[in-house]
Amino acid sequence: MYGAIEAGGTKFVCAVSDEKLNILERVSIKTTVPAETMNLVFEFFDKFKVEAVGIGSFGPIDVNKKSKTYGYITNTPKKGWANYDFVGAMKKRYNVPIGWTTDVNAAALGELKKGAAVGLDSCIYLTVGTGIGGGAVVNGKLLEGYGHPEMGHVLVRKHEADKYAGNCPFHETCLEGVAAGPAIEARWGKKAYDLTDKDEVWEIEAYYLAQALMTYTLILSPERIILGGGVMKQLQLFPLVRKELEKLMANYVSMPNLDEYIVPPALGDNAGITGCLLLAKDSI
Ligand code: ADP
Ligand code: ZN
Repeated sequence: MYGAIEAGGTKFVCAVSDEKLNILERVSIKTTVPAETMNLVFEFFDKFKVEAVGIGSFGPIDVNKKSKTYGYITNTPKKGWANYDFVGAMKKRYNVPIGWTTDVNAAALGELKKGAAVGLDSCIYLTVGTGIGGGAVVNGKLLEGYGHPEMGHVLVRKHEADKYAGNCPFHETCLEGVAAGPAIEARWGKKAYDLTDKDEVWEIEAYYLAQALMTYTLILSPERIILGGGVMKQLQLFPLVRKELEKLMANYVSMPNLDEYIVPPALGDNAGITGCLLLAKDSI
């Protein structure tokens, strides 16, 4: 039996599966402070005998095996979670192998093995929601190095009609600051899901997303890019992003057929938890 934790800033999803990764039981726990949230996590896993647990966590986190704080959530503003030794706490309680990566890396792995990128060796998973984050599998391996990718913070060029300054406290015009859900809502003064019919909203959004996808494409040359998260529920964005990317790339390098290259998740909300189960299995 394998265990999985998709640890998000709003909720933790915990699940256990059989050896074939069929989910047997799952629970959703509100993310409050570690003492409270982790007690409920333990309460869930105490009922089972798991061989390994895979964790895909909100970040930033320390994934560097050479680091003294490997397995920690690092400098999050979320109360109580900064410098929290997540892997250590799980190991202390269960003494089994623990797989550890970002929530978006886990989602990329899930989609590669069981979802929209089955049969391929590389893909990127980008979530466009409250924030923007990306994970990647490259040549069958999760992309990690000194740290983990922070794809949401690549710089973009402002759209000439966009008067919104951006809201990333660190960077003047990074992707997350101008294109995540809260930026859309601040720019237009309305909830993003109430803006479906306003074409300029999605043209500007696609203009930014395509710039980031160009950067990812030029650097990683993935076989597929999966766009998920709440904002991407606006499916009219997909053709706009493809068109804009094609324009930006200007035929400089060849890309896969764009309808197959830029796609929605096939696993929906299960991408992360599926990836965490795969991570658990791989950690043995
Ligand atoms: P989170 O990023 O917190 O995990 P989501 O991926 O659902 O959660 O992202 C939430 C953001 O996505 C909010 O800013 C919200 O306004 C936006 N969002 C959610 N659903 C939609 C939708 N159907 N259309 C456009 N934007 C949406
Ligand atoms: Zn930023």
